[in-house]
Amino acid sequence: MVEQKLREIVGEKTAKVLADQLGLISVGDLLRHYPRRYVVRGELTDIESLIEGEEVTIVAKIESAKVRRIPGRKGSILDVIVTDGKAKLGLTFFNQPWREKDMQEGRSGLFAGKVGIFKGKRQLAHPDFLLIPEGEDISAAASDFAGKYLPVYPATGKLPSWKISQCIDLALNAVGEIDDPLPLWLREKMGYPELKDALRAIHRPTKIEEAELARERVTFDEALSLQLFLVQRREQLRSSHQAIKSEKSGTLLEKFDQRLPFELTDGQKLVSREIESDLSSEHPMYRLLQGDVGSGKTIVALRTMLAMVDRGAQAALLAPTEVLAQQHLRNFRSLLGELGESGMLGGASEGTSIAILLGAQSASERESALTDVRSGRAGIVLGTHALLSEGVEFKDLGLVVVDEQHRFGVEQRDALRAKGESTPHVLVMTATPIPRTIAMTVFGDLDISTLNQLPSGRPLISTHVVDAKNRPQHLERAWQRVREEVAKGRQVYVVAPRISASDGSDFIKYGLTGQELALARRLSGEGDDEELHGTKESSSVEELFPHLSSGPLKGLRISLLHGRLKSEEKERVMNSFSRGETDVLLSTTVIEVGVDVPNATMMVIMDADRFGVSQLHQLRGRIGRGSEESLCLFVTKSEPESPAMKRLQAVASTTDGFELSRLDLEERREGDVLGRAQSGVRSHLRLLRVLRDEELILQAREIATEIIDADPNLAANSGLRAEVDKLRDEEHAQFLEKK
Ligand code: ADP
Ligand code: MG
Repeated sequence: MVEQKLREIVGEKTAKVLADQLGLISVGDLLRHYPRRYVVRGELTDIESLIEGEEVTIVAKIESAKVRRIPGRKGSILDVIVTDGKAKLGLTFFNQPWREKDMQEGRSGLFAGKVGIFKGKRQLAHPDFLLIPEGEDISAAASDFAGKYLPVYPATGKLPSWKISQCIDLALNAVGEIDDPLPLWLREKMGYPELKDALRAIHRPTKIEEAELARERVTFDEALSLQLFLVQRREQLRSSHQAIKSEKSGTLLEKFDQRLPFELTDGQKLVSREIESDLSSEHPMYRLLQGDVGSGKTIVALRTMLAMVDRGAQAALLAPTEVLAQQHLRNFRSLLGELGESGMLGGASEGTSIAILLGAQSASERESALTDVRSGRAGIVLGTHALLSEGVEFKDLGLVVVDEQHRFGVEQRDALRAKGESTPHVLVMTATPIPRTIAMTVFGDLDISTLNQLPSGRPLISTHVVDAKNRPQHLERAWQRVREEVAKGRQVYVVAPRISASDGSDFIKYGLTGQELALARRLSGEGDDEELHGTKESSSVEELFPHLSSGPLKGLRISLLHGRLKSEEKERVMNSFSRGETDVLLSTTVIEVGVDVPNATMMVIMDADRFGVSQLHQLRGRIGRGSEESLCLFVTKSEPESPAMKRLQAVASTTDGFELSRLDLEERREGDVLGRAQSGVRSHLRLLRVLRDEELILQAREIATEIIDADPNLAANSGLRAEVDKLRDEEHAQFLEKK
């Protein structure tokens, strides 16, 4: 039985180590702890390719072993040199002189430990090891070595690969029958082995092809349960909820369209039609609108909100930051003009009014906004997560627009959805375009609309990398260009990764505070950003400000924007920049998303290597929004041939968001892609990788749709239902944990 506890078969002590080190509790858990790779018996590991700091298990041949005393102290060191025939690696054992006799020249063994550097040479200090029995000497205890392929497991210092391997042997012998969640017809259709055979083939392959097919099968299992989970959720969302019943009665949208200074692009028209038909359906819309920066999503969202107001209900827009919420407010006000001033003096009769709710707001402002929301006077309600807080009551919420999805999770959407009487429609906008299969996986319960065309007449943005380390004169020239741009009446963004020199965390760069910060941390997968961007020695806006204003940009009107400013201050700074009253906006990434100042034609990003690919792309999207050609400079101190430099050059060479998102996904640990939006399912998806397994995911999606169509509750597919339940339980557990 796969549910059997490990301690019953490996013993109390080992079971505890397996649980503590790898989180493995049941026999099933252990059997799904798959080998990372296989080493071929008799072949040695390439020592040259070992990377410092890695936990490795290698196969090597002993070249020499010598015990020496530690001068002036008690004790001894056993120095062993192993080789793969080309390169050498040192092994050191402290106070174990008796091991010398085991370490006979010419013997092979498995050695496990962390690769360190000592006196410029790679070594494993105090490694765990297992000498490979020679010739006929293969004993029962070393049954690992019976096969041609030795599995190498993800291991830890306390639990080397072969110990895991020994436990797997015990588990494989103990399990007996394993129920296969895949029905026979599907196994046959895919040409996959039974689960039990697949697990055996993965752990104890006799042929490598056999292991590969088995691995594909269990990866497919993961893809299929994920897709079943998503397809089922999608169907349930649609069928179990009644959308707000509303007849179109107003003409606000028509009036708005008459005011629009441009024509909608074909893409915008198409997406608007899709949305329009969703709004007329009896089930709630649940749609993702993705499009590159500047593709005109905001207009589509606003038109959808107006269509909802025309149906007599309210529309809310949830923004990731206060700056962005306020920018939407300004933007909507100017686009709507008098149509957005209903109830105020001079407002149009067929209009509405806009309310904004923020975390940092005076009590009286908040009170009056709440009243407008409750009474229904405000047809359009903007805000940050403050919209989610208790005490915010809508008269009749018909639509929720979530801007820039990547900072909100499923739970936030659900919380907002719960605020409507009947279920509001949901439109999610993301400016991080992602390949379709990934969108399907990450946002698998949403329908997807894509704007893949920019409004015509978009100017060119050229991007260059400035090597500030080896060519400081290029940086001087960059500041000169800023002055020239300003002399032409244009405006410039200068972006830096940190607020002040003393900031430990680059998370600050988001300009988030308090709750927002906690939210962002939680949703983005802890550690990811730290790892990607590092925190050392990068420029801060507080240091740059005096430097630029008294030096290279002396005489220009520079203002400072970051997340620690009070929200009124942020708003004041943004407003004056959009009105053209300041020349240079020196900012952290608070300007990252959505900010729209067409007169800004240049951006200088300091320590650009500290930012992720899609972040750079987002930032760059702030320029090239007017009719003028724009220039973006990535300033970096990275070495010319370094990976960081290559990444910057890649981003500089294209403005295609879809291409860049691929690059971004390839670069980060992929678990995060799945983990970020569907946080709960992460630990059940061990092998699935969204980019590598695109083909498999598409197939799984198709099959999942077929299965759910025929059997919505998986009543006839109990094995699959159990797998999907596991995902759901875990997601639920994690949701509760976060509350
Ligand atoms: P996104 O939110 O997708 O990044 P926006 O909606 O902010 O893009 O649009 C970017 C800019 O393009 C805005 O200034 C907007 O007014 C303008 N815009 C949007 N749609 C069109 C269009 N069809 N024709 C011309 N300009 C447009
Ligand atoms: Mg936008």
